Amino acid sequence: MEYPKITKTPFEQFAIKPNLQDYHKMGEKFSWDKISSDLDWFDHEHINIAHVTIDAHLKTDRKNKKALIWESKKGEVEEYTFLNLSRLSNKFANVLVKELGVQKGDRVFFFLERVPEIFIGILGALKAGGVIGPLFSAFGPDAVKDRLADSEAKVLITSPALKKKIVEVFPELPALKNIILVHRGEAKEDPNDLSYDRLMAQASDFFDMVKTRQEDYAIMHYTSGTTGKPKGAVHVHGAVLGHYATGKYVLDLQEEDIYWCTADPGWVTGTSYGMFGPWANGVTQVVYEGGFSAKYWYSFLERKKVTVWYTAPTAIRMLMKAGDELPRNYRFDSLRYMCSVGEPLNPEAVVWGEKTFGKAFHDNWWQTETGSIMIANYPIQDIKPGSMGRPFPGIKAGILDDNFNELPSDREGNLALRPGWPSMFRTYWKKEELYHSRFKKGWYITGDKARRDEEGYFWFVGRADDVINTAGHLVGPFEVESVLIEHPAVAEAGVIGKPDPIAMEVVKAFVSLKDGNDPSEELRHDIQKFVMKRLSSAAAPREIEFISSLPKTRSGKIMRRLLKARELGLPLGDTSTMEEE
Ligand code: ATP
Ligand code: MG
Repeated sequence: MEYPKITKTPFEQFAIKPNLQDYHKMGEKFSWDKISSDLDWFDHEHINIAHVTIDAHLKTDRKNKKALIWESKKGEVEEYTFLNLSRLSNKFANVLVKELGVQKGDRVFFFLERVPEIFIGILGALKAGGVIGPLFSAFGPDAVKDRLADSEAKVLITSPALKKKIVEVFPELPALKNIILVHRGEAKEDPNDLSYDRLMAQASDFFDMVKTRQEDYAIMHYTSGTTGKPKGAVHVHGAVLGHYATGKYVLDLQEEDIYWCTADPGWVTGTSYGMFGPWANGVTQVVYEGGFSAKYWYSFLERKKVTVWYTAPTAIRMLMKAGDELPRNYRFDSLRYMCSVGEPLNPEAVVWGEKTFGKAFHDNWWQTETGSIMIANYPIQDIKPGSMGRPFPGIKAGILDDNFNELPSDREGNLALRPGWPSMFRTYWKKEELYHSRFKKGWYITGDKARRDEEGYFWFVGRADDVINTAGHLVGPFEVESVLIEHPAVAEAGVIGKPDPIAMEVVKAFVSLKDGNDPSEELRHDIQKFVMKRLSSAAAPREIEFISSLPKTRSGKIMRRLLKARELGLPLGDTSTMEEE
């Protein structure tokens, strides 16, 4: 292995003792029943995510603790305690039920920027028994229409500016009955609009929460669309057990923490770990309304005294791209723990984290479908850079061959999970058959390829669709991309298999360069030489093409299927989640 293990001190030597003391012991003793006894159920069968995450704390010392510290793009700050969020979400639940007639199971969708109203609204809709669906604010009209039509959402909460963007699609959405506008000082009020402020001002802050069952639908998230048309994964109220447990033992959330999750609520990370997991643990969250900016992010980490930070490889790579000089202007004394999810975390990025923050990024793996973290690196466990870590206690992960039989260690195959954890999706909305097709021989097949080593660490190989078959060798794009970005001139890389009459496929790399580097034949040869030294000749890219930026989903995932479609001159398929170039 190229990168040495990052070894951790023994548990006793941690200044702040992690919640997870002994991984193996916890694995042996683990039971979801025990986890569920930490949470405030209505009775043995009824639970509501909004109650567990917010109202349950009102009976404790956390009542007046800050739950949300929000900073706008302009730098204004708003703070909300658990009590504030409870009352405001009660008001919103009243708006939905009393004013708009929302009933249990109705879909309530959000198309908003990262403003406090999205948090309040989601909590209120859950209290009302609705099924919430957040949509990323950068979506265009088609992406919004597809999801609202598919889900048959009854209520949409949006802002005047975002409404303008999608107004043309409303006639095509017969199920959509009401649109609530969050003005935040923006635009003039049209008397025909349902105004969030007006409705909230009239609503009572007392609400008798809908006593939802553990298995009642609560959350709908459309997948990122990296491999094809997004699917609506549906989660239940009982999922909060998974959010809570992984928030506690993977993100290591503790009473005094100031926690920052950089994901937008439009993606599953932004709800599971930007709302439910941390609040079920009673932790203070900081939220920045704006998007990525290296300077702003460093300053936010410093100013807010963030202790636990959950972000994504694409953001880390952008920070790396911004150079090593910038972070030297900031102090990160409060930061004690950092995690990453969403894409494979290149070992280079783990090492860069150590150099820049004095700590390693802890990679973890999960999907919209799994609802919560499944495989992770933990504070107490050594990190093998490039590995996603080990399964969460209580989760059984396996590597299967193409007949769905388990493979021994060190073999590459299909990453699968034994079904039954609380936050597992219960269906793909209106795609029941597709849902069932994901289960084989008692396993949930994730669609990713991976390998498990002798010590039980999992290594991501690639999406099943992205793995390259070249002259009889299987090459995972991640391995090649990781080596490419080690080259000092390379910022990002996407690798595909290009059909070849002899080798079946050859490896082709698309490379974007760091600022200050220009494409040239010389540089191409230099990169080629650099990777040849590090990789087998089968895995070394036969072709390298320079492009100014890689096609990505709006959540920052490299869309290799688009690189491939473009290369082959094929139709691009669903591009609704694609970032503008
Ligand atoms: P779609 O299913 O629509 O193609 P998607 O799979 O990208 O989109 P998500 O559910 O948001 O949608 O992403 C989950 C996927 O992201 C995983 O299946 C995996 O391929 C990738 N992923 C997430 N975390 C990691 C990680 N730590 N390492 C490697 N891959 C990861
Ligand atoms: Mg997927």
